[in-house]
Amino acid sequence: MKTYRTFLADENGCFGNFGGAYIPEQLKKCIDELRENYYDMITAPDFREEYDNLLQNYVGRPSPLYFANRLSDKYKCRIYLKREDLNHTGAHKINNTIGQVLLAGRMGKKRIIAETGAGQHGLATATVCALMGMECTIYMGEMDMQRQQLNVEKMKMLGAQVVPVKSGSGTLTNAVDAALQDWCSNEKDTFYIIGSAVGPHPYPDMVSYFQSVISREIKYQLLEQEGRDYPDYLIACVGGGSNASGTMFHYIDEPRTKIVLAEAAGKGLHSGYSAATVNEGVIGILHGSKSLVMQDENGELKEAYSISAGLDYPGVGPMIANLSISGKIDVQAVTDEEAVAAAFELTKMEGIIPALESSHALGLLPKLNAETNDVVVITVSGRGDKDMVTYTNYL
Ligand SMILES: *Cc1c(COP(=O)(O)O)cnc(C)c1O
Repeated sequence: MKTYRTFLADENGCFGNFGGAYIPEQLKKCIDELRENYYDMITAPDFREEYDNLLQNYVGRPSPLYFANRLSDKYKCRIYLKREDLNHTGAHKINNTIGQVLLAGRMGKKRIIAETGAGQHGLATATVCALMGMECTIYMGEMDMQRQQLNVEKMKMLGAQVVPVKSGSGTLTNAVDAALQDWCSNEKDTFYIIGSAVGPHPYPDMVSYFQSVISREIKYQLLEQEGRDYPDYLIACVGGGSNASGTMFHYIDEPRTKIVLAEAAGKGLHSGYSAATVNEGVIGILHGSKSLVMQDENGELKEAYSISAGLDYPGVGPMIANLSISGKIDVQAVTDEEAVAAAFELTKMEGIIPALESSHALGLLPKLNAETNDVVVITVSGRGDKDMVTYTNYL
């Protein structure tokens, strides 16, 4: 069998024991077509040129690497914030949706589908579909649609059809299932844009690559500001793992950098209200790939909980699962309470209101034990506008 090139996954789409493509027969054609084409298409010079141009002039990249002066004083280390919150649409997600919509166009697809939880990925997808003149359908749990009305209105204004998913708990997992079902019946003209480093191969590999612009920029920005291109600590939050994968992409084999990720522990580890998949999960298959999954003794998927709608996913990307099992990265649990406290701290000390997801990364600062003058880079994955209703409860 012919093998196809990949970025960080092996030729079977695995990261160690994790990953792969566990898909129904009807999806095999779509996935094969994507698997055989993505690497060559997205590394081609004309693709890179168009992609880089849009990142610069449409998204507003490079995003600043901002030295947080007052926060650094408090924690007695040198803290830099990678400002993905300043991207167009307010988060890192657009780095990936632009990449995938360009790929869809090159593969001759006319229609885009996507799932969304908090609405951020749906918004980023509807945005690039408007930009490219593509037809766009977004699947969203009915419960999530009620919780995230502003994003629903924005998607509609951008011309997307938002389809409420009533099954199950009416949240992200159900929306993914609905999108996969749509893809099965519309494989010829439809491209499925997945929003995180999850799903069957090649999605985790491809999404991590599109997000790798984050660490590519950190490298030269740190060199300019610190005189060396690696930090002592690299910190990001992890839901599925896309902003984390992008933040670590160029540092995975850098022995001088400790990578610490924050996952959402809701009301506490093992409280029954958590989304801390790496700390609590077991090996299982979710949405087409083998990874760590929150399951009960009977193999039933547990419902994930976090104050942050972008982190309450009962799975995690296979690359994160593998790196944590092999001890290359440290994935720590951060509770709702710790995340909210960190959000208020950043807001009061630096004048930046972070997304609740990003606040989990910031919530690691008090636990870090960095030494004086250690260089710490934290990715602020998104801005907090969408979370104001939640923050208001704590004012
Ligand atoms: C979606 C989202 C996340 C979580 O997704 P990852 O794929 O783990 O990055 C984190 N932060 C923000 C702002 C998001 O919108």
